[in-house]
Amino acid sequence: MKTLLNRVVLVTGSTSGIGLAMARRFALAGAEVVMNGFGDPAEIDRLREEIAEASKTRVHYIPADLSKASDAQMLVKQAIAICGRIDVLVNNAGIQHVSPIQDFPDDKWDAVIAINLSSAFHTSKVALADMQTRGWGRIINVASAHGLVGSPNKSAYVAAKHGIIGLTKVTALENAKTLITCNAICPGWVDTPLVRKQIEARAAKEGISVDAATVALVGEKQPSERFVTPEHLAELALFLTTDAGGSITGSAYTMDGGWTAQ
Ligand code: NAD
Repeated sequence: MKTLLNRVVLVTGSTSGIGLAMARRFALAGAEVVMNGFGDPAEIDRLREEIAEASKTRVHYIPADLSKASDAQMLVKQAIAICGRIDVLVNNAGIQHVSPIQDFPDDKWDAVIAINLSSAFHTSKVALADMQTRGWGRIINVASAHGLVGSPNKSAYVAAKHGIIGLTKVTALENAKTLITCNAICPGWVDTPLVRKQIEARAAKEGISVDAATVALVGEKQPSERFVTPEHLAELALFLTTDAGGSITGSAYTMDGGWTAQ
């Protein structure tokens, strides 16, 4: 069903992984989609054209480095300039750095907080002002199971993801009397480049195969022992944009194979 016909959706960090699956799904639901993220320009252009062709909708790409407040704000302003408005904002871009606190590099802390948390404040600030003129909007913040529970060696990531759930609640409350909602999605392990790096690092450190490291990594946190898929997360995000999703605001939805049920 084309539930997003005549809607404009901006997905940050949509050149890869979860964000890319969401961009694809929103386009298939009829939305005009704005993509963002890093990557090879030719490959990004190929992806953009592939999504536009499959969905018969308009798909744009705006490069912005979301570690910078000015870029994050400019991204939304440019999207509004091109598309006329933003109806759905998905704050998805994220990075990881794994290290104990005493060795955690200062610049990595700053980068994880800037990209995984502060960028969502800067994009939401500009997008909300636009959504409020029409009294309708959806903001979806991609948090993590690490927004609800901690793990060793991920201080910046866990702090940022807990923080974005707080930002989600405040955004929801400030707009509760309108049809603008804000929710967080909290995935468990998803097989994307962000997690592949952790699997490869574990395989190297423990002298085991990548397959054995994958089983160990997923199994120790996620009772299902299966990855969550980007496509399933995209379906959840799409549901939050529907009319039926209109009463859900300020929530942190887990899709984590049972991780946070323990
Ligand atoms: P990914 O590495 O596949 O995608 C990350 C995206 O963010 C890419 O498009 C990348 O180019 C973009 N990005 C990174 N730094 C950027 C910057 N400075 N400016 C603009 N774009 C930038 O990773 P993913 O797993 O798809 O992660 C997407 C989101 O899901 C992240 O917020 C991540 O924390 C969250 N998440 C992932 C998992 C998982 O297991 N993969 C679990 C829970 C939450």
